[in-house]
Amino acid sequence: MYNFSAGPAVLPEEVLKEAAEEMLEYKSTGMSVMEMSHRSQAFAEIIGEAEQTLRNLMSIPDNYKVLFLQGGASQQFAMVPMNLMKNRVADHINTGQWAKKAIAEGKLFGRVNVIATSEDKTFSYIPEMKGLKVSEDADYVYICHNNTIYGTKFNELPQTDGKTLVADMSSDILSEPVDVRQYGLIFAGAQKNIGPAGVVVVIIREDLIRDEVLPGTPTMLKYKIHADNKSLYNTPPAYGIYICGKVFKWVENMGGLTAMQRRNEEKAALLYDYLDGSTLFKGTVVKKDRSLMNVPFVIGSAELEAKFVKEAKAAGLENLKGHRTVGGMRASIYNAMPVEGVKALVEFMRKFEEENP
Ligand code: PMP
Repeated sequence: MYNFSAGPAVLPEEVLKEAAEEMLEYKSTGMSVMEMSHRSQAFAEIIGEAEQTLRNLMSIPDNYKVLFLQGGASQQFAMVPMNLMKNRVADHINTGQWAKKAIAEGKLFGRVNVIATSEDKTFSYIPEMKGLKVSEDADYVYICHNNTIYGTKFNELPQTDGKTLVADMSSDILSEPVDVRQYGLIFAGAQKNIGPAGVVVVIIREDLIRDEVLPGTPTMLKYKIHADNKSLYNTPPAYGIYICGKVFKWVENMGGLTAMQRRNEEKAALLYDYLDGSTLFKGTVVKKDRSLMNVPFVIGSAELEAKFVKEAKAAGLENLKGHRTVGGMRASIYNAMPVEGVKALVEFMRKFEEENP
């Protein structure tokens, strides 16, 4: 079967097989990775190699730290303001539910200016970035780089007038090359393109790692504590990090981010081209802002949509129901979704269209 879940999502089969082989004993250590001390030599190598592979994949400059944290991407909605706010002002772009949640969390700590939004058309596009007015006193500008629910993605970054750009890349990290230097902070929950739920990757420029965080910020929510302790201040999500390391290696073996991008563009084009020609199904996003990772589409009849999801499931195409807040369907086609999976989906859609004219 093929799993089109938005997250936790499909992982490379090679990685799962390797992990299965090493489940009982990791490299003659006599124990599973799940059983070993996070202070052991074996785990030091696992986390060190995971970080180095990610650094190589994303060409992360030396003046950025890579942190493996917990608390989900949602915890970053709070950690970002707690650690980065000096003036207690943040500029946000509202492109959907995850962007909104970050806005709400930011408001707990300071003033949030929504400097652009696509709410007027149900977040079916990314607002115009040209001529964007960044607030003079903003501590940072915040975007959700790929909008998992609405299926949009920033192809052009906001001009921030030198302000720090913060990006939630939970649903598109590693899907294509990015220029890390354009960002002050990138974060991503692992459970889509990186590994199992429970790990959050934070890539942060060193000058943003400060002692002077907002008063009352708990120790566990300070980037500095985690950076100073190389993500081992407390027990990290060790097994998850081990799987992440394997996924990073898999991406490397696949040819890195440029090869990933090519593969993702090919997969997305199969689906979007079909949607554009279909008389039954309809994509919901403005063409230029379409995500390579999450493809929402509708039929326009709740009854037919339910039938589609049910029959697709029976045909081995799982988790195609759209997010509960928007309805319709959504195919998440992350890095680990093979092109054969997308072809099978398009074939099925074609057949369904013929049968339901
Ligand atoms: N940001 C984005 C873009 C997401 O898709 C999600 C949902 N997986 C989140 C944040 C929240 O992630 P988590 O459940 O790890 O807190």
